[in-house]
Amino acid sequence: MRQGRGYTPFSCQRILTEHPPGSGESHGCPYRHFSIENLITLLQGTGVTDREVLRGVKEDVEKKRYHIACNRVFEHAHKGAIAQVKEEGSWGAAEMDTIVHPNTYFKRSYLLTNGGKAD
Ligand code: SF4
Repeated sequence: MRQGRGYTPFSCQRILTEHPPGSGESHGCPYRHFSIENLITLLQGTGVTDREVLRGVKEDVEKKRYHIACNRVFEHAHKGAIAQVKEEGSWGAAEMDTIVHPNTYFKRSYLLTNGGKAD
């Protein structure tokens, strides 16, 4: 969805279904457009080394549940902060929903990392 004249990146659904990147292009979803080996290497490079999580990601991708894999990694990467906002009750159900847009991923990640509140 476009808002005003601003640039809004595609939703995950569009990225996953419609818009494969060409070679040398960097848009697209790593869960959908990377080989499983490259994806696992990428995740390990960003500090996701938990074998259970990586195994889950592999399974999700094999079953074409790309956004589930993405959310699995998100929840793992932020599990401490997520537990905290849950305990404090500072995030409502909407903030806990499955991520379906790259902007949401970025925003939530930022807020959890910086201790901000979802608005
Ligand atoms: S937010 Fe996650 S599922 Fe959506 S495009 Fe980005 S990596 Fe893929």
